[in-house]
Amino acid sequence: MSLFRSQVQQMAGYTPGEQPQEPGWVKLNTNENAYPPSPLVLEAVQQVLTGRLNVYPDPLATEFREVASELFHVDADWILPGNGSDEILTILMRTFVDPNEIVSAPYPSYTLYETLAEIQGAQFQNIQLNSNWSWPANASEKAAKSKILFVPNPNAPSGNRWQDSEILELIPSQGVLVLDEAYGDFCDSPHQCELLKSNSGDKIVVTRTLSKSYSLAGIRFGFAVAHPDLIKGMRKVKDSYNCNTLSLAAATAALKDQKWMQANTDQIRASRTHFISEVRGLGFETVESQTNFVWCTHPDGEHERRYQELKQRKILVRYMKFPLQEGTRDGLRITVGTNDELQQVIDALREIG
Ligand SMILES: *Cc1c(COP(=O)(O)O)cnc(C)c1O
Repeated sequence: MSLFRSQVQQMAGYTPGEQPQEPGWVKLNTNENAYPPSPLVLEAVQQVLTGRLNVYPDPLATEFREVASELFHVDADWILPGNGSDEILTILMRTFVDPNEIVSAPYPSYTLYETLAEIQGAQFQNIQLNSNWSWPANASEKAAKSKILFVPNPNAPSGNRWQDSEILELIPSQGVLVLDEAYGDFCDSPHQCELLKSNSGDKIVVTRTLSKSYSLAGIRFGFAVAHPDLIKGMRKVKDSYNCNTLSLAAATAALKDQKWMQANTDQIRASRTHFISEVRGLGFETVESQTNFVWCTHPDGEHERRYQELKQRKILVRYMKFPLQEGTRDGLRITVGTNDELQQVIDALREIG
């Protein structure tokens, strides 16, 4: 007899990207920002370190919510912070989904959605995308009965961004659309949660992270933006103190320094354009990325070999393989690092062949 809940017993669990702890790697496998966070973040953290760590943090994250609400032109009661946007995804699942209800997401996309659905005992449904990463004709029909439809926009691992109008058509009649905008700041015309102001805005939750565009993956901070009625329900589910004093100070300072984030994302967009043209020159096919990574495939299909050979050279990229209804789909997802790191990838790929 197993001590585990049957869902936990049966599931495989999520496998995060490799995180080598020793130095010397060119690490382009988990879409971290190549550049450091704003110096204001370090100042703010140092300041709270000399303050009162013996008391609990503000459970309402009042200051953070005020700064975030200004940024997105909503009231502060539209914001709910979390210990990374992954925690927000967990809170969403626990707030809206009963066991056996349907949770859907495009496929291939972020595989954590499925893991979270399994933990909750929900039925998970992949909506398989077309080979050019567009939605299949029956997508809205398939999504219709979902309690939550997760849509990362831009998508991962492809990096493409769908039109808002296409996504609005997919909103389930009795469910919530979760727009995972982890990469929203890397778009050529960045997201500003416009869909929340649409007619269906009261059924949409936007999630955001400070891990990517704000260079704070190590801090663990993300947040939801949604109609206050939805936020109210989610607040009942979250831990009272899900964000700690240090991460709250860091995240608040980071959001206040928009200039810093913009300069870094501008640089990454420029590096991305250059990298895409270089890998195409080597015979790879790429998606027009709107993120800080590029999905690279080669007509010869030898992606796993190239991943291994890059790894031998201490260059870590993400090899991803997705079983499909027929066959599989695989490729290399390469984070847009510094120009120097990307040059090393190009040189190595040229050598590897
Ligand atoms: C990185 C990522 C996240 C996780 O963000 P955290 O705030 O670090 O938990 C969520 N969704 C997608 C699509 C991501 O790529």
